[in-house]
Amino acid sequence: MNNFKCSSIKHRRDRQFIFFSLIAVFILTNIVITEASSEDEDIQEKIQEIEQERQSLESEMDELEENIEHLQQQEREVVQRIQEIDYRLSQQEQELIELDNEIGETEDQIEKTTEELEQAEEELEEKEEFLGTRMRATYKQGNVSYLEVLFEAQDFIDFLSRLTYVQSIVDKDLELIAEVEEERDRIQAKKEELEEQKEDLQTLYAEAEEKKQEIEQNRQEQQRLHAELEEQREQEQELLRQKENEADQLLEAIRDLQSQSGEMVTPIEWPVPDFGRNYITSPFGNRTHPITGRESFHSGLDIGIAHHRWPGSNQYQGNPVNAVSADSGVVIYAGIMGSLNSGYGRIVIVDHGGGYSTWYAHLNSILVSEGEEVSRGQPVGLIGSTGSSTGPHLHFEVRKNDNPQNPLEYLN
Ligand SMILES: [Zn+2]
Repeated sequence: MNNFKCSSIKHRRDRQFIFFSLIAVFILTNIVITEASSEDEDIQEKIQEIEQERQSLESEMDELEENIEHLQQQEREVVQRIQEIDYRLSQQEQELIELDNEIGETEDQIEKTTEELEQAEEELEEKEEFLGTRMRATYKQGNVSYLEVLFEAQDFIDFLSRLTYVQSIVDKDLELIAEVEEERDRIQAKKEELEEQKEDLQTLYAEAEEKKQEIEQNRQEQQRLHAELEEQREQEQELLRQKENEADQLLEAIRDLQSQSGEMVTPIEWPVPDFGRNYITSPFGNRTHPITGRESFHSGLDIGIAHHRWPGSNQYQGNPVNAVSADSGVVIYAGIMGSLNSGYGRIVIVDHGGGYSTWYAHLNSILVSEGEEVSRGQPVGLIGSTGSSTGPHLHFEVRKNDNPQNPLEYLN
C-alpha cells in the first residue's frame, strides 16, 4: 500500500534520474505526437469503428450462445425421451417373449391333447369293432342258435339265464363304449378350448408386435429429431467459433492500431498471473489508511499473495510470485523509492508511451533494469513487502501523464 504522493522519493539521484527520463520521454513522444497527430486521429477513429464491429459481433455471439444452450436443453430432453422409449421397448419385447412362450406351451398341450384324442378314438374304434364282431357273432349265433338255445335249454329258466348272460355281456360292452365316447368328447372339448386359447394368444401377440413397431417408429422419430438438433447445434457452434476468431482478429487489429498510435494496449494484462482479482486486498481510491487511520487516497490496487510464497516470510516454501508488465514498454525506473521501510520500497516503473506508465511497488527483488525494453507479461520483479507495507502484496498503479488512474478501468 502507498499513498499517491511521490514525495516519498528521498533519494536525490533517483529523483533526478526520473526527472530527466521523463523529460526525455516527453520530448520524444511530443515529437512523434506532433508529427502524427492527424494520423493519430485517423487511427483513433479506426479503432472506434473496429470496436463497434467487435461489439456487434459480441452481441451476435451472445445470441448464438443462448441458442446453443437452448438446443442443448432440447437435446437432453430428447435423449431422456429415447431412454424412456427404450425402457418401454424392452418391456414390450419381454411381453412378446412371454406371449411366445405361452403360445409354445399351448401348442405343446394341443399336440398332447391331439395324441390323447387319437388314442381315445383308436380305443373307441377297437371297442366298437370288437363289440360289432361279438354282436354279429352273437346274433349270427343267435339267429341260428336262438332256437338251439331254446331247444338246448333244459327248461325255461335255463333259457332265460342264457339270454340274460348274452345280454349282460353286450350291455357291458355298450357301457364301455359310452364311457370311451364320453372321454373322447371331453378330450375333443379340451382340444377346442386350447385351440381357442392359442388363437387368443396369437391375437395378443400380433397386437403386442404392432405396439412394438409403433414404439420403434417413435424411437426412430426421436432419433431423427436428436440428429437434427445435434447438427443444428454443431453448425451454430461452428459459427460461434468463426465469430470468436473474427472477434479475436478485431481485437488484435485494435491492439495493433493502439500500439501504432503509441498508446498502451488495453485491456492491459493482470500483473499477478498467479493470484487473480479475488486477491485484491485494497482498491483504488479514497480509504482509511490501515496504519495511520487517516482518510487518504490510495493511488493503486493492492494484490495480496500467499505468505508461504514470499521470500521474506519464515513460512517461505519457495516458488516466489512474479509481478509482470501489464503491457510492452520501457523500464524507466527500477530501484528503491522511499526506503525499504517506507514509501514504495523496491519499485519498477514501465513507460508504455502515450503518457501511460505502470508501477509495481513493494517488490522483494527486481528482475529488470532501467532502459530495458519489456514485453507484455514479462516478469519485472518478485512480489514482497518492502516500503510501507504490512504484508506481502503488489501495489500496482496505472498513471496517465503521471496521474494515478483506476487500474480496473484498464484491465479487462
Ligand atoms: Zn497500495
